[in-house]
This record gives sequence, structure tokens and C-alpha cells, in this order.
Amino acid sequence: MRLAKPLAPGSTIGIFGGGQLGRMLALAAGQLGFKCHIFAPEEDSPAFQVSAAHTVAGYHDFAALETFAKKVDVVTYEFENVPSDTAAFLESQALLAPSSAALRTAQDRIDEKIFIAGLGIPVAPFAAVNSEADLHNAIARIGRPAVLKTRRFGYDGKGQTKIAADTSTGVAWAEIGKAPAILEGFISFNKEISVIAARGWGGVIAVYDVPENHHENHILKTSTVPAGISRATAEEAREVARTIIAALDYVGVMGIEMFVSGTKLIVNEFAPRVHNSGHWTQDACVVSQFEQHIRAICGWPLGSTERHSNVVMHNILGGESARWAEYGASARTGVHFYGKAEARRGRKMGHINVLTPRQG
Ligand code: AMP
Repeated sequence: MRLAKPLAPGSTIGIFGGGQLGRMLALAAGQLGFKCHIFAPEEDSPAFQVSAAHTVAGYHDFAALETFAKKVDVVTYEFENVPSDTAAFLESQALLAPSSAALRTAQDRIDEKIFIAGLGIPVAPFAAVNSEADLHNAIARIGRPAVLKTRRFGYDGKGQTKIAADTSTGVAWAEIGKAPAILEGFISFNKEISVIAARGWGGVIAVYDVPENHHENHILKTSTVPAGISRATAEEAREVARTIIAALDYVGVMGIEMFVSGTKLIVNEFAPRVHNSGHWTQDACVVSQFEQHIRAICGWPLGSTERHSNVVMHNILGGESARWAEYGASARTGVHFYGKAEARRGRKMGHINVLTPRQG
């Protein structure tokens, strides 16, 4: 199903998932005059606090899904692990963007790699692993070090383990729960970057400047824009993003993670949703990634991706949230909290965008 005409302010956007990404999508939608209806299984979902309506139900509650689909004008999602039968059902009942086909490709690391490599874009060497014997053979082919990841449901370093020179295959295989997996050659990268790209129903594409990302304990800690890479590499990264988003006939915002290794770009993965490494756009750009996603799925013209400032986005993790007054008193700093009550270790509680005058 495709959008017949742009949705007017007052229309209702259904958002699947009630975390911080859903919350910030709802806030951006509100700015454009839309109402949001959030569907999530957790009673205390952060997105509920800022939305007109919500449904608390499981992702396989098809009666609740049907009722939800009837009440909204378009459905989108804030996380990539929406069960595929649920996405297909929603797509049969309502307008879904991004499509269930894009979601399916992103959900399986092997399908994703085959798809990206098929576009002529470099990815890490990889092999499918379904048993310890497969792992043994895959290591013989790809070599060490390598990274073993579950094919599905991994995030923030969960469901993955490094295969070092002395790692036993049995231990690594057990560590990822003996689930269907992918072995990837270890890329010795200089930098991790990402590209936030958007595409509308009519095929128009908009791409933001490239952030450089730093992780701590597998969780994103900072995104810095501009990245410390050459103009040519940044433009090549943006072109890779354009190629991927167009090939998927995608509608909405996507985050594409890449490694810079020497002068070479290698795509790690893409997320079919707004992305943590795009939060800096809220304060450094005319139109944020959240507004851009809402514009794209609602059939509005895409907004400007122009960046007016240099920026460093810092994630506020766990107990760092106690420093809210300090963040609040900082000059040229955009402060964003997600309304989460419990500051568990490593939990994403909010972020700040620290601006400096634009250079480069
Ligand atoms: P992912 O879940 O694929 O985003 O991986 C999480 C993090 O692990 C990445 O941001 C990288 O820092 C690291 N990583 C993942 N895959 C590789 C690889 N093939 N080579 C080197 N580092 C990797």
C-alpha cells in the first residue's frame, strides 16, 4: 500500500514501540500538528508520556493490532525487532513505513550482508554458522580475530563475542547461546562512522552530515560532527547510504553504520529506524532526524538537512542522569531526557548535544 496524498496536521501516526526513539518521534510529530498513538507491551513506556493515545498489548495480540491499525493513518516503528508476522499483519491492515520487506532484510545479519554486498558495497568477510563444526570451518576460512554474532536480535553488543587467537570454538558457540549466527572477519578500523539518510514516498532522498561514533562497553557514548575524515570519504559514505536506501525502495529514516579502514569504507549494518547516532540533528540542524522521519512517512517534502553548528552528542547512561542540573546549566547545550524512572547501569536515560560554531 502506498500513500495516496500527504497527511494533514491532525492525522494520527501509529508508532510501534514505546522507548526513547518513539518518544522523540512523537514529540517531533506533535510539532507538525500530528497526534501519535503508541503500541507497546510495557505499562511505563517513555513514549506514552508525550502521546495522545496508547495501547498496552503484546506484539502478537492480533486483535489489539487490528484495533490499533483502524485508529491510525500510517504506522511506523522505533525498533527493528518487530516480529515479521506482526509487521506483515500491520501492513495488510494499514499503511506501514518503512515496509516489512526492509525490516526483514535488516533483521537478519546474513540477509543484510548479502543484500549490501550485492550492491557492490564492501562488507566484512562473513560465513553462516549453525553449529560448532560450522564455526570451526568458518574460522579456518576467515581467520582470527573474528566476531561471532547471532543472526537476529542483537543490539548494543548483545549476542556477539570476539574470537581471539586463543578463544575456544566451544566457549564462543555457547556464549552466543548456540543460536544461528554469522562469523565476521574482524575489521581493524580507524573510525566508526554512520550516515543518517531519509527517503520519501516519491523517492526523494536527503542525507545528513557524517558523525564519528565512539562506543564504551559496546554502547554508543558520543557522536561528533563533523567526523575527522576527509571530505571525499564523507561524500562516499553519503553515496553508499543513498545507494542502500534507494535499493530498498525505503520510506523513512535509516541509520547506516560503517567502519573506516584506511581509506576504505566497510558497511557494518543498517537500522530501519531513527538512530542514536543521529540525535545531534535535534540541535545542530534545521530539521531533526525525527521530524524528517515523520515528514517522510506522512508524504511531506523532506526538510533541510543543513547543519548550522558543530556538535558533540553525549549519551547519558545510568547514574549519569543524576547530573541533570549540571547539564541544564551548560551553555549551548541541548538537553534531552527520556522520562525513565529507573537509572539502571548502562541504560540510556537521555543525551545532550553540545554545540560550537560551525567549522568545516
Ligand atoms: P554491531 O552489533 O554489529 O553494531 O556491533 C557492535 C560493535 O562491535 C560495532 O560498533 C564495532 O565496534 C564492533 N564490531 C562489530 N562488527 C565488527 C567487525 N566485523 N570488526 C570489528 N569490529 C566490529
